[in-house]
Amino acid sequence: MNILLIGSGGREHALAWKIVQSPLCDKLVIAPGNPGMAALGAKDIECHNIKATDVAGLVGLARDIKADLVVVGPENALAEGLADALAVVNIPCFGPKKQAAQLEASKAFTKDFCKRHNIPTSASETFDNVAEAREFLKTYSPPYVIKADGLAAGKGVAISPDYQDAVAEIEAMLGGRYGPASSNIVIEEFMTGEEASVFAICDGETAMLFGWAQDHKRAFDGDTGPNTGGMGTYSPAPIVTKALLDITQKEILDPTMAGMKAEGNPFKGVLYPGLMIENGKPRLVEYNARFGDPECQVLMLRLKSDIVPYLLAAAKGGLKNMPAPEWHDEPAVCVVYAAKGYPDSPLTGSIIRGAEQDFGDDVTVFHAGTSRAEDGSLRAAGGRVLNICARGKTLQDARDKAYAAIGKIDWPGGFYRTDIAWRAL
Ligand code: ATP
Repeated sequence: MNILLIGSGGREHALAWKIVQSPLCDKLVIAPGNPGMAALGAKDIECHNIKATDVAGLVGLARDIKADLVVVGPENALAEGLADALAVVNIPCFGPKKQAAQLEASKAFTKDFCKRHNIPTSASETFDNVAEAREFLKTYSPPYVIKADGLAAGKGVAISPDYQDAVAEIEAMLGGRYGPASSNIVIEEFMTGEEASVFAICDGETAMLFGWAQDHKRAFDGDTGPNTGGMGTYSPAPIVTKALLDITQKEILDPTMAGMKAEGNPFKGVLYPGLMIENGKPRLVEYNARFGDPECQVLMLRLKSDIVPYLLAAAKGGLKNMPAPEWHDEPAVCVVYAAKGYPDSPLTGSIIRGAEQDFGDDVTVFHAGTSRAEDGSLRAAGGRVLNICARGKTLQDARDKAYAAIGKIDWPGGFYRTDIAWRAL
């Protein structure tokens, strides 16, 4: 099979690493890819410098390479309608169409959808006007949760400790801080509990559980500092029990699949509910319509089954006839190595030495924001730059291996958290 993979982050490097292990994959083409993906070897691999949001360019590439399957990593490609454009030319796509991708791209849509289908989440209302939002806020008590409706690169959520601060957030968001993404806002009740990420792959009818993990969103040790796209992950997460997964399937995933289908927007691809868990009960914090990054990295390390038949069944239908995927028992840890200054203003261009050495069987380094300079050196080219991932006999063992590998990388321009997985240890 010829497979086209879209994206350039650690998530897509992990997917590429897993896809090329499949005997079903003859050729893997990646757009735009990164230097780590280009160096994967073993299979016929090419990277093409086409952006994830260039729908026409990507459809053209899919046709040129006679793609049997397109796998979409990032949410912006989905929100641009890549899956819709591929459907027009009959190329199977692992990823939802634009209307279905609203589950991630519009928080107001998702909150209303949850109300219509009785899916457990916090109470909320949507506003496009400051005066009404201010009045409504008085009916809630602090902390106040204010969210931009649309995609804001993980920055569109404010948790305000008092009324004045919350009003300032409302004014800033409705005043255009995130452009059209915040022309509507959602005010919702604050939920307490512990968070976990659960992943399901979906074919429009069936949602099949496909792993779970916990991440660390804050930049610095002890879960302090600014929110980031994610500084590290571990899987499995002790809080995610069989009972919790059963409830999540029954109360959240199944009604979502049925509801989306009934409303004419069957959902295909990854459905990734962020959950708030209290007393063993999950409530939906948000939906994402793609794998998490860096959650995907630990999932791919733990996935024992060939991923390609699952991606194909999700794209074409027939998941309900597939066995549940098999997982390695060993836990996995991913530590993100980020450029100094991330998330606000990461310093790019610094040289990274030693990231491409052989770290042994249990350690895999996935690239994200890296570039290859003309002299062949590896450089930092983004905020989150490398993902140092390891599997071990225990979570502690996996974590020790990941940090031992980081110690062998010479990159004065980078920083990482030293406490990934502390909660589970
Ligand atoms: P992401 O970067 O995960 O995609 P996002 O910008 O889409 O984030 P959410 O996941 O909805 O936003 O919220 C970000 C974080 O804010 C959550 O992980 C959670 O910690 C916190 N949060 C969001 N909503 C609530 C809520 N109702 N109660 C308590 N905490 C919340």
